[in-house]
Amino acid sequence: MQVMSSTALPDAPSLVWHNSFAQLGEDFLTHLPPTPLAEVHWVSRNFTLLKDLGWPSEGLSSADALKAFSGCAIPEGAQPYASVYSGHQFGVWAGQLGDGRALSLGEVESTLGPQEIQLKGAGPTPYSRRGDGRAVLRSSIREYLCSEAMHGLGIPTTRALCLTGSPQTVYREEAETAAVVTRIAPSFVRFGHFEHFAALDQTETQRTLADHVMKEQLPECTRRAAAGEHHGNRYALLLQVVSERTAHMVAQWQAVGFCHGVMNTDNMSILGLTLDYGPFQFLDGFNPRHVCNHSDSQGRYAYHRQPQVAFWNLHCLAQALTPLIQDMELTKTVLESFKVDFAKALDHAMAGKLGLAHRELNDRLLQLMAREQVDYTLFWRRLSHAVAQGQADPLAPSWLAVRDLFLDRAAWSDWQQDYASEMQNLIQAQDLSWSEVGSQMLRHNPKYVLRNHLAEIAIRKAKSGDFSEVDVLLTLLQSPFDEHPEHDAYAQLPPDWASSIEISCSS
Ligand code: AMP
Ligand code: MG
Repeated sequence: MQVMSSTALPDAPSLVWHNSFAQLGEDFLTHLPPTPLAEVHWVSRNFTLLKDLGWPSEGLSSADALKAFSGCAIPEGAQPYASVYSGHQFGVWAGQLGDGRALSLGEVESTLGPQEIQLKGAGPTPYSRRGDGRAVLRSSIREYLCSEAMHGLGIPTTRALCLTGSPQTVYREEAETAAVVTRIAPSFVRFGHFEHFAALDQTETQRTLADHVMKEQLPECTRRAAAGEHHGNRYALLLQVVSERTAHMVAQWQAVGFCHGVMNTDNMSILGLTLDYGPFQFLDGFNPRHVCNHSDSQGRYAYHRQPQVAFWNLHCLAQALTPLIQDMELTKTVLESFKVDFAKALDHAMAGKLGLAHRELNDRLLQLMAREQVDYTLFWRRLSHAVAQGQADPLAPSWLAVRDLFLDRAAWSDWQQDYASEMQNLIQAQDLSWSEVGSQMLRHNPKYVLRNHLAEIAIRKAKSGDFSEVDVLLTLLQSPFDEHPEHDAYAQLPPDWASSIEISCSS
């Protein structure tokens, strides 16, 4: 089956392969090798992640590593496969999908626990349908950078170990070149995997998958069931844990101003990780109705709809798990808990940004920001600095820098006064100082996010063979709360041309 030669990753004996998903068997996946690309080269390597994983430092340096991570050779111990799943796309049942251009090598032991390695863009699979199994350099740079940016922001996500490229042509709207992102996650199982077996009425196969996920990745389900939660119903607890993780993830998205763009159920991780970066966008000006995906003509996945969509997607998962849970009332109870969990998680995240918990002030602020489409990231960062300066004087330079973001200065001043007096109360009540609260806020409000135009500049340079900008952004986005004063320009308002960037599903 493995027609190509295998290669040892450097120091391969120290890499311990588990391949537990592969062992589930052919109901779940098809074994096949990647299809090599011509003249592969490194685009970027994430040595920080390599270190986090505790994998040998040569793991991203040798010719063998380049071959392994570009799909030109199979590392010793790997058993490459594509998995099958289905899903709802844009609210409609899409039937069978599957890894059409992602190939998993298996799971490797790491200091972060077993991690599945997946090559995105490594060639066609039985699930490619009419696709070519490839990914273009443009969208691969976006996924590579954004997954690490999300991690830097503390938001659960799949990660990216490296990015390789090839001059081989891939046709989208125009001729582009191919790339492979090496993605890492404890598991890439999606809601759609469960929907797949439910649609086929294969309850026992689905049970095998649910048991696998709970044993390998979500042991808290069994623990909580054993403690008597949900009458000890393990499958209800699976839904519960996925719901809790999804609520937490989407609350973080909302707080940081992240739009996913394609929240189809096949792009929803069972571990509550941000997964499948396509036409995502970090908001520039705050517009809750913003639709980042140019192909989403109905605005189904607009920023403000993301929590509702997550809830809808969880209903699809619940429906799929019905034969395992076998208790409609319990299922409804679990689903309802999402609303409470999400609201709590969002309140908590927004209180971190604001420096105090106050829903009314928060809502009033967001309404004002929406009315003026104030730059979302800049606003929060400037507010944090103003508080950190340690004074409530609205005419101090750091407060004027916040006011400059608003046209309606009277409305801003009203809000600022109320905020300052709430802050003063908090500081007195808790024996804090303005600068202490401000320093905390600076840990919640990033200076750097992957704005579309920043990715676009890196892509343009990379297309001409200069990958340096990808590495600059990678470093910056991995610690987005730090000042990096030499890179101030990356934290400014977007240029006018940024609003004309159109990102679609084409990738
Ligand atoms: P996405 O919209 O990227 O989540 O993809 C939806 C489905 O289409 C998944 O099953 C992908 O694997 C598949 N797919 C997307 N692009 C390609 C491609 N170029 N070749 C093969 N399959 C693809
Ligand atoms: Mg997808």
